Amino acid sequence: MEKKKLLLHVCCGPCATHPIKMLRDEYDITLFFANSNISPEAEYKKRLSEAEKLATICEVPLKEETYNHNEWLLWIAGLEKEPEGGERCKKCFEYNLGISAKYAVNNNFDLFTTTLTVSPHKSSKIIFEIGEKVGPFLAVDLKKKNGYRKGVELSKIYGLYRQNYCGCEFSLAEK
Ligand code: SF4
Repeated sequence: MEKKKLLLHVCCGPCATHPIKMLRDEYDITLFFANSNISPEAEYKKRLSEAEKLATICEVPLKEETYNHNEWLLWIAGLEKEPEGGERCKKCFEYNLGISAKYAVNNNFDLFTTTLTVSPHKSSKIIFEIGEKVGPFLAVDLKKKNGYRKGVELSKIYGLYRQNYCGCEFSLAEK
C-alpha cells in the first residue's frame, strides 16, 4: 500500500531525529524548515544547516520556507514581554503551523505535523488544538515514550549542534 505523504515541520535538527525514525515506516516524510521565529539570523542559519545535515543522514527531502523574522515580530506584537510558555508562544505556534498547513495543502501532502511536541517545555495539547484548526494535522505526541531523551541521544550520535534557548530574542534574553 502506498504511504501517505506527511509534511513534518521541524523546529530544529535535534528535535527531528527521533520523529523521523518513528514515523518513516508509516509515512512518506518530507521535512519542512519554517522557523521565522528564530533570532538572530546567524542562529537561524546554524539550525537550518543542522536540519539539512540530518536530512542527508536520514535520506529524506527537506524544504525551506523563506525566513522573515520582521513579519514574525509583527505577528507577535504586543506579546514580547510574555513568559516562555505563555500567549506569545501560542501565537508563534500558530504562525509556523499556519505556514506548514498552507504548504502541505498547496503541495498535495495528505497530512502535516510538527516536531514542536518533542519539547518537554511545550504543551502538546495546545499544539494539537492549533494544528487541527489550521489544516490536515496529524496529532502525534512526539515527547511520549521518552521521545525527547531519545532525540538527545541520536543528536549526539549524529554530531548535531543543540541550542540552549527556544528560538526568539525574548527566549534568549529570558535564558
Ligand atoms: S519562546 Fe519559543 S515558542 Fe515561544 S515565542 Fe519564542 S521562539 Fe516561539
